[in-house]
Amino acid sequence: MSKEKETNELMEKVVSLCKRRGFIFQGSEIYGGLAGTFDYGDLGGELLHNIKNSWWKRFVSARRDMYGIRAAILMRQEVWQATGHADHFADPMVECEKCKRRFRADQLDPNLQEICPECNGKLGEPRQFNMMFQTKVGANEDSSAISYLRPETAQGIFVNFKNTVDAYHPKLPFGMAQIGKAFRNEITPRDFIFRQREFEQMEIEYFVREADWEKHFEYWKEQMSMWMEDIGIDMSKVHELEVAGEDLAHYSKRTVDFEFDYPFGRKELFGLAYRGSFDLNTHKIEYVDEEAGEKMTPHVIEPSFGVDRAFLALFLSAYTEDTSGEETRVFLKFKPKMAPIISCVSPLLKNKPELVEYANVKVFAPLKEEFGRIAWDDNGNIGKRYRRQDEIGTPWCIVVDFDTLTDDTVTVRDRDTGTQERVKVSDLNSYIKEKLN
Ligand code: ATP
Repeated sequence: MSKEKETNELMEKVVSLCKRRGFIFQGSEIYGGLAGTFDYGDLGGELLHNIKNSWWKRFVSARRDMYGIRAAILMRQEVWQATGHADHFADPMVECEKCKRRFRADQLDPNLQEICPECNGKLGEPRQFNMMFQTKVGANEDSSAISYLRPETAQGIFVNFKNTVDAYHPKLPFGMAQIGKAFRNEITPRDFIFRQREFEQMEIEYFVREADWEKHFEYWKEQMSMWMEDIGIDMSKVHELEVAGEDLAHYSKRTVDFEFDYPFGRKELFGLAYRGSFDLNTHKIEYVDEEAGEKMTPHVIEPSFGVDRAFLALFLSAYTEDTSGEETRVFLKFKPKMAPIISCVSPLLKNKPELVEYANVKVFAPLKEEFGRIAWDDNGNIGKRYRRQDEIGTPWCIVVDFDTLTDDTVTVRDRDTGTQERVKVSDLNSYIKEKLN
């Protein structure tokens, strides 16, 4: 099979698994879909939570130097005028003169710049297309009412820098962090959730003294890798790209993109940028450095993460096909702490009330109360139940059988190896806790 076909097939399988098992649906699907938007179902939502909770715990709540913020999505237009987004947050766009389709000029094959990739028609001249979604706030229709859906979460941090300093009096170095939605009217949304028009970001602005920026940059580069590894992203597919001088934003002295080997190519996963004092200067914000006894403008290191790209990289890292048996077995090798469902409880037979009662009252209910993410499945034969749980990445299936009724033990079956062991019902709680950690 050709490489291209293989990668297309892998993405097709992932997209269809995501839909079939309720991870991700196309946005507005019943009305034909809205390009660049996706809705996360029950299981997808759980995985998203686990990604965001792990990030927030590691980078915010477990640290002493970090302050969270949940800023409004709508901001005054002056914010985006000051940062230059209102005038310059644009991608070069070309339109085909024949089929009228539009493309991002910088994503076209460099050898075929003037030819439409869809219909071979002639492409027009590139023009700048601003990617911010404009809207109006309030009942006034004049230009003073213009606002934008934020294209990044970072500015919600900068505009609250002073509030945070006044409220908490942090000493340098310290950081502020935010998780939230961002919106970009991408010209060509594509590659499933990789490039969307509405997506989620997790961003940190870490404020340092200028002299120390290189040290902090290295530190955050390492921290970003450690977190990716911790949640289970396949690090053999992650590559650091030093963004070359001519591609750097005008205010940045150094940017490293973390790229991932997606089936559709090696592309950006997360980014780390040294932004100098650009943002705080832009908003005319200063900081009193008590140590130096002077007013100054801190410099900024920005680790920036896309939640949806984290989801995709994690999903692709976990996706496994075991072809050793008669039928291909598909399973998601999530780390147990990230799996949407930690464990599934089953009575061996659903028409034996004593098994159902035991499984429900003595196993399912207490585990559900303790861990939350516990499923119940009494449908079909046990083999089929295992396959269903494998496909959504559940690490352990617990089965209550006739022996359970006499010896109070259950079968615990492992997702990755398929091996089974007998565990005492009274030990299940600690058994799972131990494995989760
Ligand atoms: P790209 O070059 O892929 O357009 P970018 O360099 O513009 O990305 P940033 O502005 O650095 O991206 O945004 C920070 C992070 O937000 C990215 O590393 C990525 O994880 C995520 N992100 C950016 N744009 C999108 C999008 N359209 N859909 C999903 N995630 C996105």
